[in-house]
Amino acid sequence: MERLIEAAREALKNAYAPYSKFRVGAAVLTRSGKIYTGVNVENASFGLTVCAERVAVFKAVSEGDKEIEAVAVVAESDEPVAPCGACRQVIAEFNPNATIIMATADGRRVVTANLKDLLPSPFRGDALKP
Ligand SMILES: [Zn+2]
Repeated sequence: MERLIEAAREALKNAYAPYSKFRVGAAVLTRSGKIYTGVNVENASFGLTVCAERVAVFKAVSEGDKEIEAVAVVAESDEPVAPCGACRQVIAEFNPNATIIMATADGRRVVTANLKDLLPSPFRGDALKP
């Protein structure tokens, strides 16, 4: 868990948040033991902004590593921040029971949750089948 938080904290330095100044780093741990990091990437067209968690998940998946076990989110905030609804849904696609670790950048506060507690009823792909 410490390794994952540290990876997210290290990634946070690369956050691209010139508009909100709210820098976030994320790190995904997969069953293979690999860690993939991400940062929030903002855009002048605000709606195009992507959260750190989704960047990290997409990096893992694009490397063919889909078995997500845990996601750490580190933000420069007084209290740990939880993944937004969109990120919860994206993580749930790969593991609805993923461990979610939320921490402040200074490591003062750490909260751990099961994704199921944050998103009890994710939209399921099998709903699309005829
Ligand atoms: Zn998000």
